[in-house]
Amino acid sequence: MPIITRIDTDIRTHVATWRGAGERSVLVPTMGALHDGHLSLVDFAQDRAHRVIVSIFVNPTQFAEGEDFEDYPRTWERDIEMLRDKGVDAVYAPLSSVMYPERFATSVLVEGPALELETTYRPHFFRGVATVVAKLILGVQPDIAVFGEKDYQQLLVIKRMVSDLQIPCRIDGAPTIRETDGLAMSSRNRYLSESERETASKLNQTLQTCATDIRGGKPRGSSLQEAAEYLSQSGFKVDYLELRNADTLKRVDDIKNEPLRLLVAAHLGTTRLIDNIAV
Ligand code: AMP
Repeated sequence: MPIITRIDTDIRTHVATWRGAGERSVLVPTMGALHDGHLSLVDFAQDRAHRVIVSIFVNPTQFAEGEDFEDYPRTWERDIEMLRDKGVDAVYAPLSSVMYPERFATSVLVEGPALELETTYRPHFFRGVATVVAKLILGVQPDIAVFGEKDYQQLLVIKRMVSDLQIPCRIDGAPTIRETDGLAMSSRNRYLSESERETASKLNQTLQTCATDIRGGKPRGSSLQEAAEYLSQSGFKVDYLELRNADTLKRVDDIKNEPLRLLVAAHLGTTRLIDNIAV
């Protein structure tokens, strides 16, 4: 399993050679600290193409001052072992100096699905994500790139960007993998104390209850308010809990005829958790 850290032409050569042999490639971008959620993306990718490339890059530009860039978990050796066991074809782990060389001055700014929700609380975030994902996809040139529905707004932002810029790569969304109590797997879950970890399961349980209420015809205003209050009483500090159009993330006008997604972000102690489900 080649591990490529320097120039994107190396990884591009692999992809071009595979393409020449009639083999399709799929890229799975990650920030490392891999867990079963990431590995499920690898399985998902292996079902869709002959060759799977996993990228590992903790992208500084999607972290704001005071966020956890320095402390973000880095478990390189274990990650590589996990990917080797999975039969991944190549790891692309570009150095920071490759991704952001001196005088780097370009960024990708998506509006549409990037507006509100995460952007209200992390205004820098999608500019960093869109820029790094554009650079990874253009660097590797895979046929497909796979992203988790766990980061639902991110998935829609990347689909929008790839479509708007006519980047020749298909974007596929893969389902969220959860712990047995419903908590969405995340590299950041390891920040939770034992008691916070217990409380954390309420995030998804509350989404489920709220979705059931809305599906059952209970007014959405009171369903959302009750759910947010329950989370606050349980110890969360809620950034948002919102019902949005699942395709555009716009506010819902016609609840009966639009695809619906319930999205939440909330802090538990110093850890910020996000989750979402279809309604
Ligand atoms: P990250 O390393 O957190 O940037 O995540 C890399 C990719 O894995 C993103 O596309 C995430 O949406 C996806 N991912 C993270 N957690 C999960 C999960 N629990 N289930 C499915 N995909 C996930």
